[in-house]
Amino acid sequence: MKVIRLHDLEFEMFIAPEQINETVGRLALAINHDYQGRNPILLIVLNGAFVFAADLVRRLSIPLQMDFVKLRSYLGTASTGSIHEHFLWESSLKDRHIIIVEDIIDTGHTLHHLVGKVAAEGPASIETACLLLKPAARQYPDPVKYCGMEMPNDFVVGYGLDYDGLGREIAGIYKKI
Ligand code: 5GP
Ligand code: MG
Repeated sequence: MKVIRLHDLEFEMFIAPEQINETVGRLALAINHDYQGRNPILLIVLNGAFVFAADLVRRLSIPLQMDFVKLRSYLGTASTGSIHEHFLWESSLKDRHIIIVEDIIDTGHTLHHLVGKVAAEGPASIETACLLLKPAARQYPDPVKYCGMEMPNDFVVGYGLDYDGLGREIAGIYKKI
């Protein structure tokens, strides 16, 4: 089994690139179906979601726009409970259909914070697409309509996700040993 080392930690293969690809394809199919004629804004949560979003949008065949927010709640391998906003969107979200694109939902705190901010702009609708979700860690009830995979309460890296700045470029997803 392939093991990688980042800083002081070791990680083993968890989700292979082929399986990620299949999952992203399934999410894209559902979004293509649900958003015909709605011209959604995909609100991509940086940094972690940049790889997932890049793959997802290239499988979408509906007219859409993208905007970006940059938030941070994680330090090292744990959720800190406080959200730092580096920046928020530039577009007007009023009366628009918004799809928040997240890499992974852990406690759900980041998503809850963002949904509150987006809702205050008066959008026509808000849904969330995420690649990974940790049901056992979840503390906030915000619904996630497009969820790629549920996973145990492990710490993962790769496919956009980092451990203190390292590992985002790795094609598959690896979990901490
Ligand atoms: P939450 O606010 O739901 O607790 O945490 C969500 C954010 O924390 C995600 O957007 C992601 O950036 C980061 N995060 C959560 N779980 C993991 C993980 O297992 N690995 C990495 N690298 N980041 C994670
Ligand atoms: Mg994130």
